[in-house]
Amino acid sequence: MTAPPSVVADEIGLSGAYLDERDEQLVLDVLRSGRLALGPMTERFERLLAERVGAHRVAALSSGTAGLHLGVKLAGVRPGDEVVTSPLSFIASANAILYEGGIPVFVDVDPRTLNVDPAAVEAAITPRTRAVLPVALFGYPLEYDGLLDVTARHGLAVVEDAAEALGTTYRGRPVGSFGHPTVFAFYPNKQMTTGEGGAIAVGSDDEWELVKSLSNQGRADRGETFLHTRLGYNYRLDELSAALGVAQLEKLDLLLELRSRVAARYDALLADLEGVTTLCSDDADRRRSWFVYVVFVEDPHDRDTIMARLAARGVSSKPYLPALHLQPLYRERFAFRPGMFPVAERAGARGLALPFHARLSEDAQARVVAALTAALRDG
Ligand SMILES: *Cc1c(COP(=O)(O)O)cnc(C)c1O
Repeated sequence: MTAPPSVVADEIGLSGAYLDERDEQLVLDVLRSGRLALGPMTERFERLLAERVGAHRVAALSSGTAGLHLGVKLAGVRPGDEVVTSPLSFIASANAILYEGGIPVFVDVDPRTLNVDPAAVEAAITPRTRAVLPVALFGYPLEYDGLLDVTARHGLAVVEDAAEALGTTYRGRPVGSFGHPTVFAFYPNKQMTTGEGGAIAVGSDDEWELVKSLSNQGRADRGETFLHTRLGYNYRLDELSAALGVAQLEKLDLLLELRSRVAARYDALLADLEGVTTLCSDDADRRRSWFVYVVFVEDPHDRDTIMARLAARGVSSKPYLPALHLQPLYRERFAFRPGMFPVAERAGARGLALPFHARLSEDAQARVVAALTAALRDG
């Protein structure tokens, strides 16, 4: 079969998992053991991840989306309850609220961090607010001190979408260690992967028992019997995926270091390029864990035109991320309209993810920046 004509030979791809012999070995070990589900590798993965993120306990799950759904259940969200959340995210964070009949109350993001601001969250609280579901977007930490102060004062549950923020730290503390349910995801483009997969970090044994039961068909035990005490789901991670997770966690420091080096190289190469801006920098208290490398295409340039010009030069890129309230599902259900959350809309219309992964070569990065420079100049 020949490649479709739109694919340029030697195209630089958008993302790529870092896989090595250790990943192969642990997956093969599980395959040969014959124990493919509900086994020791999942328990090992849960223990290692809890240690890594400083959480009391972690439950491994089939996806980040499953984790967000169970997080919303832990928060006790009932039909008609309001949940304050970000309009600039991947669709799963808002959908998880809808799964339980909750109403997403979007508050616009801070233009610098692209995360919700504690004061804006507080201003959106009503007597019907049950929970806050903030998103640590593009691996940048939330304002935990301010945010957790607001939620504590108003007696609200917190469910954090940290699907893009494994390895992120705030005032020296890892994301996942703040006590509230915190969701991670391991799709192949994330900082580390299990294929499909996710996890939820929780702050108590009771919450852990509950999410384990909910993820395993509402069982009263670990799966030995058919005794179901609540409405549950099959949100289990399998043993093969957990093995990959263990091997990836073992080298997470390396993966994060390589990603941040690639990001620093892009920062340096793009520093003097007019027409695009980059994500906000770290400071002493806030350290980003690099998930995607996003630039914002500034006036008078048009993001989609730049994207097409990059594609013509063999460089993949992707709009990142469209504002959630403008998705057809949300416009129809809640009558959201353009203009309601201008910062999120602006980022959604101008954000462009460039090729980014731990093994992206300096040469490939130079080609990406050359293509972007040319695309901005004249096409
Ligand atoms: C990736 C991602 C998710 C969902 O994770 P899946 O494992 O694909 O279900 C949720 N929220 C955000 C912000 C994400 O980037």
